[in-house]
Amino acid sequence: MDIEKSVREEIEDVSMGRPHVVVLGAGASRAAFPRGERNGKRLPVMADFFETAPIASALGRAGLAYSGRNFEEVYSELARTPGSAETRTALEDAVFAYFSSLDLPDEPTIFDHLILSLRPKDVIATFNWDPFHIKAARRNGHLGGVLRLLFLHGNVLAGHCAHDRVHGVLGAMCSRCGQQFSPVPLLYPVAEKDYETDPAIHSAWQAARHAFKNAFMVTFFGYGAPVSDGTAVELLRDAWGGWQQRDLEQIEFIDVRQEDDLLDKWRLFIHTHHYEVHADFYDSWLAHHPRRTGEAYISQYLDARIIEYNPLPRTAGFEGLWAWFQPLVAAEARAREAEERNRHASGLDK
Ligand SMILES: [Zn+2]
Repeated sequence: MDIEKSVREEIEDVSMGRPHVVVLGAGASRAAFPRGERNGKRLPVMADFFETAPIASALGRAGLAYSGRNFEEVYSELARTPGSAETRTALEDAVFAYFSSLDLPDEPTIFDHLILSLRPKDVIATFNWDPFHIKAARRNGHLGGVLRLLFLHGNVLAGHCAHDRVHGVLGAMCSRCGQQFSPVPLLYPVAEKDYETDPAIHSAWQAARHAFKNAFMVTFFGYGAPVSDGTAVELLRDAWGGWQQRDLEQIEFIDVRQEDDLLDKWRLFIHTHHYEVHADFYDSWLAHHPRRTGEAYISQYLDARIIEYNPLPRTAGFEGLWAWFQPLVAAEARAREAEERNRHASGLDK
């Protein structure tokens, strides 16, 4: 078969201005670290939270049956139980402490690959509390710029200045007022999710809605769209506009669940044909066309060209990985410079 768009052409093409939005759920962290993170600590999902994270003792004398139960159910029950405020605080502290203690290994991980595979125009919106996204953004940010990270349920490393509405990393200073960022509270899984009250979470959702409206592609990576979080699914669906309003855009799932289950949940999102399901991140558009998913998608589906894969080197160390990404980043810089020259020439920068 004749390749009509080569890797070389793909690298030079940076015509897509719209964002690729990646929505991450607990399944992504588990997929990244099936045998645990840097120190072997395991990544829980709601269904096995009490078995996986060492937090059960915080339930203390509350006398709640938690064994084998979903964290969300137990927490919601606790929230409804009168006089349980102390137990709830103890549980929340234990969860915060556990997620704060998680760390990335020294070698590149899925999170590094994910961050590097996206451009500054793109967005990661995550439901996860763990610190992996921010840590990966920090250690790769020197290459190709930093994209937007939105924490839809809060995060142990996220900070916020409510006064200036600036998001940042906990421990750093707000660039406007010079005050330290306040922590963003973790949003605990009660049945009725409140995405409005906390200013940091509210603004993350606003930004997520905006990104969804403009996205050409949305990747759901390990996000279970739990029935208990109908609000989240509704908010995302409204922003996406439902399949009737979408023509070309693509939905991609990276998930180990059965395709039928996924489609059932996401029916209203999906245009008749434009979705794909991959069990493995390394089979996704992101891993096959890093930093060029939009351009590759247009070439394949709009221009009907046969395009060559440009898979990222998943086993390379950091030096090799960054060297591999260098030509992509350089092409982006050249495109930006050319754009600036054009703007200058046409007098638009005055
Ligand atoms: Zn400030």
